[in-house]
Amino acid sequence: MKFISHLARTVFFVQVFMVTLSACNGAQSKTVTQNSKVMTDKQHPANPYYSRTDTTSLTLSDAVWKEVLSPELYEVARHGSTEQAFSGKYWDYEGRGSYHCAACGNRLFRSDAKFVTTCGWPSFFEAVRPNSVLYRKDSSFGMERTEVVCGRCKAHLGHVFDDGPPPTGKRFCMNSIALEFDQDKASPKKRP
Ligand code: FE
Repeated sequence: MKFISHLARTVFFVQVFMVTLSACNGAQSKTVTQNSKVMTDKQHPANPYYSRTDTTSLTLSDAVWKEVLSPELYEVARHGSTEQAFSGKYWDYEGRGSYHCAACGNRLFRSDAKFVTTCGWPSFFEAVRPNSVLYRKDSSFGMERTEVVCGRCKAHLGHVFDDGPPPTGKRFCMNSIALEFDQDKASPKKRP
């Protein structure tokens, strides 16, 4: 009888140990995935790395990006895919405001630098600040092009060409899905 009681107690403690271990593993995997990054943007609850104010460089694994981005954005931003011309929401958009990286929130372009094109992708003649985007040589598809990536998270945004309008002569040809537009706040009316 004493032996059975001792056995039952041992089984109980083993079970408690196993449950505790499994709970710890769950917590650890969550911590690794989210990397304790501060996230305050309520419009992007699935992406804890999104911020329109933090310009700190982001280096995340492909697996993490796949988890926090939509499948369509993930394919463009992390695998360099290109959306179909005239299919995106910004190619002919004329709102006044800023365009941010859809993957991380980094501010990239101002609407003042956007110009009308017939190429089917939103196009800008300059970035909002020199380091808001970075450039990479792209020799894919038998062409020599300059790829444009986000200066904060290195997301693929599109390419830049030398056939743009003044004052820069550049044409930043971007994927709409890689951008998010933030409309300027209306300035308060002055009292008469
Ligand atoms: Fe980014």
